[in-house]
Amino acid sequence: MSTEHEAIVVGGGIVGASTAYHLSRDGVDTLLVDRLDEGRATDAGAGIIAAATSSRTDNDDWFAFATDATGYYPELVESLERDGVGETSYARLGELSVALDEDELEPHRAALERIDDRSDALEGIEPISAADATSRFPALAEPKEAFYDPTAARVDGRAFAEALLDAAREHGLTERTGDVTKIRTEGGAVSGVRTADGERIDAATVVVAGGAWSSSFGNQLNVEIPVEPKRGQIAHLELPDTETADWPIVKGYRHHYIVPWPDGRIVAGATREAGVGFEPRATAAGVKEVLEELLRVAPGLADATVSEIRVGLRPVTPDGLPVLGDVPDVDGAYLATGHGPTGLMLGPYSGRIVAELATTGTDRIPDKLRADRFD
Ligand SMILES: Cc1cc2nc3c(=O)[nH]c(=O)nc-3n(C[C@H](O)[C@H](O)[C@H](O)COP(=O)(O)OP(=O)(O)OC[C@H]3O[C@@H](n4cnc5c(N)ncnc54)[C@H](O)[C@@H]3O)c2cc1C
Repeated sequence: MSTEHEAIVVGGGIVGASTAYHLSRDGVDTLLVDRLDEGRATDAGAGIIAAATSSRTDNDDWFAFATDATGYYPELVESLERDGVGETSYARLGELSVALDEDELEPHRAALERIDDRSDALEGIEPISAADATSRFPALAEPKEAFYDPTAARVDGRAFAEALLDAAREHGLTERTGDVTKIRTEGGAVSGVRTADGERIDAATVVVAGGAWSSSFGNQLNVEIPVEPKRGQIAHLELPDTETADWPIVKGYRHHYIVPWPDGRIVAGATREAGVGFEPRATAAGVKEVLEELLRVAPGLADATVSEIRVGLRPVTPDGLPVLGDVPDVDGAYLATGHGPTGLMLGPYSGRIVAELATTGTDRIPDKLRADRFD
């Protein structure tokens, strides 16, 4: 059996969902094929959308791209609302960065200095007192120093990807669950894909948005895709009889964070485990690490109920930057992957610019992020 579309997107995490949305919105007859792997990063992500306070801020290439990506979110949310999507889960909460122990003062002050250096891009971020910090987030330990970023936002990755797909369906997107095993080419151009059940689907454009699983297409497309999984374990908690809707996101300086949701729901993450392969399972050591760090930063959460541990595989690259754009030797083949620990922040914008490149030829891919840079 063979079917035909203008474009196929492989992978339905936030990056594939955004690519499929933008292609469909531009009138391209698009099919999204998703294998729904356990460990899909989008389903586990904490959802912090904050360029200024990311631990990646010392990388100028990442920061420039992240600034564009966070700036695009409100426009995208409006577009989804115009398409009839009621709730995207995107909300600006603000974020507290807190130094609790001596060893956190140096990275805290370095982060503030970087923010000062970029004052044009990062207006409104200011040091606040310990009392101000604990009044904003009552469960917090008293910090030695703190600053507040009013621009920080959060999304629920799973809900946002679903919102993108809901809107894409309004524009005619076709979807199926399936395993793409081959990207077919003829005479140096994409001709479609083949699935594990032997089906051939024809298309002149194929976008690989396969998250941590993307590297399997490197040999077929004659391009290096050095994307590997980095496991993250993250805890979901419930705090009975407490309204947390106005609490900000909290970050310390040991790569962990707390993201509040309404009705006493709290998300605390996360481990960063390289070299464990495709094993999306919660471990005793991982859960201990997450809960210990949570209670160091916010001892007031000691009585919260642990309702779920989620585990996701972040798609990481050797230089920590996404892999975007056209594959040099294969017309019609595009990559949108490698977003590592910040794909919920960057992914919707990546999907937009890769879709735009594929449909109109307008090329906004930064050189440092290009698909052929590892060749
Ligand atoms: C614990 C944790 C916390 C995080 N916190 C944040 C955060 O606060 N902020 C932030 O910005 N980011 C965060 N991230 C990172 C973010 O979640 C990821 O970067 C992002 O979700 C990656 O999206 P993706 O679409 O590339 O991949 P995924 O969401 O993994 O989706 C890839 C999809 O492709 C499918 N697929 C793969 N190969 C094939 C194939 N051959 N055929 C068909 N389908 C295929 C898979 O089944 C999967 O559904 C976090 C991640 C984790 C794990």
